[in-house]
Amino acid sequence: MIYMDNAATTRLSERAFEAMRPYMMEQYANAAGTYSFAAASSAAIEKARAQTAAVIGAKPAEIYFTSGGTESDNWALKGAVLASKKEKKHIIISAIEHHAVLHSARALEQQGVEVTVLPVDADGLVSPADVEAAIRPETVLISVMAANNEVGTIEPLEQIGEIAHRCGVLFHTDAVQAFGHIPLDVEAMHIDMLSASAHKFHGPKGVGLLYVRRGVKLGVFMDGGAQEKKRRAGTSNVPGIVGMGAAAEEAKARMDAMIPAVSAVRDHIIERIGKEIPYAKLNGHRTQRLPGNVNFCFRFIEGESMLMLLDADGICASSGSACTSGSLDPSHVLLALGLPHEIAHGSLRLSLSEETTMADADKVVDSLKVIIPRLRSMSPLYEDFVRSEGRA
Ligand SMILES: *Cc1c(COP(=O)(O)O)cnc(C)c1O
Repeated sequence: MIYMDNAATTRLSERAFEAMRPYMMEQYANAAGTYSFAAASSAAIEKARAQTAAVIGAKPAEIYFTSGGTESDNWALKGAVLASKKEKKHIIISAIEHHAVLHSARALEQQGVEVTVLPVDADGLVSPADVEAAIRPETVLISVMAANNEVGTIEPLEQIGEIAHRCGVLFHTDAVQAFGHIPLDVEAMHIDMLSASAHKFHGPKGVGLLYVRRGVKLGVFMDGGAQEKKRRAGTSNVPGIVGMGAAAEEAKARMDAMIPAVSAVRDHIIERIGKEIPYAKLNGHRTQRLPGNVNFCFRFIEGESMLMLLDADGICASSGSACTSGSLDPSHVLLALGLPHEIAHGSLRLSLSEETTMADADKVVDSLKVIIPRLRSMSPLYEDFVRSEGRA
């Protein structure tokens, strides 16, 4: 099998698994316990707070553990609105946000919050000037993702953060695809809140974090016990948090080596497809792009059939995001980049990890070179196109 769907989830690292094991077996205490048996669990949580904070230049006390990226995004948007004392409330997001942000914004809109959805350019970039122009006296929050999960474009966080802080508006970023993959610094980038999820950087599923800058007022989203300084109730997921801490430390340690190595495999795939498969268009920014992201549209191809044939060749890939597959709507991200519906349907996302080899890359391109002409030969649209090209 060749696994090229690391943007959907990653394999748990051995080290993270080994770190978690004792907290699933011998050290099963509730970290909130007052007896000494609970001390190891609470100390392990504090270690993970420091390990994750170090990845983004935060202080450990600014890290709050959650059940994942979706919860962190919900909390950031809904919590910021809940805590705001403004009479009228307005938030700004981009058109290519993950559904966790997009649908949270829509839910807030139902409650009377005004929402501005910023467009992106053909490469998926948000314009900082657009952000600035959208700010009003009632603006509570700007939420722009660090890197897009479908097309891999890395957003200009530093400029957007600078504008947000100059205008006194909170700045949240969904960094689920970026955390542990590219350098992030909450100080240099003026970030007030940042979402991350362990299973996107070789940690376990079902655990994540929200960084909340000291002093930021955020409404409580989860009511209950006094965990996480009374800001996020619920018994701490000790093994999950420990696994996330270990995975974060590992990701930080190997980031400098990983970025050029994974980018080289990515660029090899992009170059080969560009040269060897006609009517293929790269989606997302060519260079300002996640090391592990490849996203192409193939004209006259239906994405789902391509995925089925790749699967038959033992290749796990995705069209757009896992969250939208299963529905026939084309990806909101590709539409926001300006692609027409029929082309957006023929998209393929290959997301790599440090485990992806050049040989894997070649096998996938070789497989596409068989699959795509075969699917096109069955397409009446392609037949018409070839005939009209012949006449021209
Ligand atoms: C995966 C993902 C999420 C959701 O995170 P979960 O931990 O799976 O809930 C949110 N935003 C982005 C950009 C993602 O890629």
